[in-house]
Amino acid sequence: MNAARLAVQPGFVARAKLAQDVPSRRQSILPSFSQNTYAIPSAHRLSPFSTSSSLSCANHKPPALKPSTSQTDSDGSSIDKYTAGLRQNQEWAAQTAREHPDLFPTLATGQQPQILWLGCSDSRCPETSMMGLQPGDVFVHRNIANILHPGDLSSGAVIEYAVQHLRVKHVVVCGHTSCGGVAAAMGNKPLGILDPWLLPLRQVRERNLALLQSLSADEAALKLVELNVRESLNVVTQKSVVLNAIQERGLEVHGLIYDVASGVLRELDTQDSQDAIRARLVAFKTEN
Ligand SMILES: [Zn+2]
Repeated sequence: MNAARLAVQPGFVARAKLAQDVPSRRQSILPSFSQNTYAIPSAHRLSPFSTSSSLSCANHKPPALKPSTSQTDSDGSSIDKYTAGLRQNQEWAAQTAREHPDLFPTLATGQQPQILWLGCSDSRCPETSMMGLQPGDVFVHRNIANILHPGDLSSGAVIEYAVQHLRVKHVVVCGHTSCGGVAAAMGNKPLGILDPWLLPLRQVRERNLALLQSLSADEAALKLVELNVRESLNVVTQKSVVLNAIQERGLEVHGLIYDVASGVLRELDTQDSQDAIRARLVAFKTEN
């Protein structure tokens, strides 16, 4: 990453708008916390398609994936995906072991993922595959529409474990195009259990109604995807464990949008003022 990156904002995280005490956007500084300063480490930028080792296992290139074979049985009938997947797992495990003989023995001893991924459950958004990474690289929490409820025990436990114990270097919130949860929140049909789940999305819609109504339907849906990512980043960076990791060891928090039509990830360019960062630290950071 060329630009120093800062991670705490009211709604998201961003490249830092650095105060004058940051000597260089390439230099790393990590001052101790005070209410008037904020640690802004330089660090590696998330570069999903980079071949650098920063985000991939140092000696592990993703194995070339064999195309799915045997999608039809010997009698020509189609094989369901579960059956095909079990068959292909044998091939995948053997191929991976041949190409990366140390991978599975290493993983058997524990995990050291660099990335915590908070994404949508959508089947079209396979985080490890889309980044060309390997088992062991990404710690994952996915739910419908990548919504983070502040009091949600599941996502909260995942975030705390990943940040405090696994000491991931990056926290990613990723939304995606054509998100069914976002589309549902843009409509007004009753959805049962999904209604309380989608409540934060509807609240974002409410707060940005004029903007969304000024856009075409497709543009509005994409805008709500982006706003939702920012909202989830907001929840992430209100957690003291995250704030501490940002200051003490340069944890980075990122917002991404995945385009299911092209397979390409786009990083949100977010930025926030020092005043906003300071307010967040004062309001949410607790003592170690
Ligand atoms: Zn989705």
